[in-house]
Amino acid sequence: VSDLIIIKTQELKLDCNRCLKQHSVEIDFETLTKEQKEGEEPVLYNFICPDMALMYRVLNFAVDLRVNSLRDDLPKEVQEVIISDLKTMWGEFDFDSKLNRFIKLNLALAGIPDEYYDLLFSVVSSYCCGYFYPAMTGSGSLGERILNRLLLKIRSYFKSSEHYKKVYRKDSFHNWDYPILVLKDWGIISDEVSVAFQTLKQYRNDSIHYQDGYDFESNSHDAIKALATIIDKQFNYITRKDLFWVFDIPGEIWLKSAFVNNPFVAEFVLPHCIQLTPFDEPTANPPFWATDVPLKPLSDEEFIKLRNARK
Ligand SMILES: [Zn+2]
Repeated sequence: VSDLIIIKTQELKLDCNRCLKQHSVEIDFETLTKEQKEGEEPVLYNFICPDMALMYRVLNFAVDLRVNSLRDDLPKEVQEVIISDLKTMWGEFDFDSKLNRFIKLNLALAGIPDEYYDLLFSVVSSYCCGYFYPAMTGSGSLGERILNRLLLKIRSYFKSSEHYKKVYRKDSFHNWDYPILVLKDWGIISDEVSVAFQTLKQYRNDSIHYQDGYDFESNSHDAIKALATIIDKQFNYITRKDLFWVFDIPGEIWLKSAFVNNPFVAEFVLPHCIQLTPFDEPTANPPFWATDVPLKPLSDEEFIKLRNARK
């Protein structure tokens, strides 16, 4: 057994190019590849300086502000581009009615780019084109999908909750009342979102179960509005000032550090964020990573002050 490795961990001194100090890092030799052991490849690929003050900045957005541009008194050229795009998508037949419905719905969004965004737009398109039945049933289905998605992705964070043993085995929920209650008790949805889910639930049930002479046109409008309220109050960065610093730094949205461990944030927000120092510019061309950066502890307010004062 001559090639037995006796030393299993070794301390490595590292000059940090971020905080400009020296770190000592314990390396477990058993986790290294052959190339790393022989010095052909670096041992530390993803060293993140443990002392830097970092915050999460939002980098991905789902944005649709077209309706604002159509409604407001913007230059005609801007409006014409939007109108021409919608016409290509929806067809010219009775186009003014389609456009009027779009403007009347009045949905603007700058949110977490989760899957709901494309799905909502196909419901909205059905409605605008005058296909009220799929608009109606689609908004109920999408509401149910969002409700299920929230609960299924988040429940494992609440294993000690009374509710957990009633929800952990199920793959989907068709009766909305209990999931709405659970998400509200867990602090994942607000009262406002819970009320909007209840409103949409009623539309979903009324439209799916037979009712003589059901008014799909006017009810689909109201159902989409309830669905849009859920999406706006749950997923819109600009609405979620409880979770985000919205434009405290001009043009930028950052996560409030107190919410890093919030289950909704962990599952739905962090995948769209990057951890940065106050001086990093990942969207610059080329991207810029600052050195000699502030160290922990640093409050969010101090961080924002430093970023706003950067040159
Ligand atoms: Zn460092």
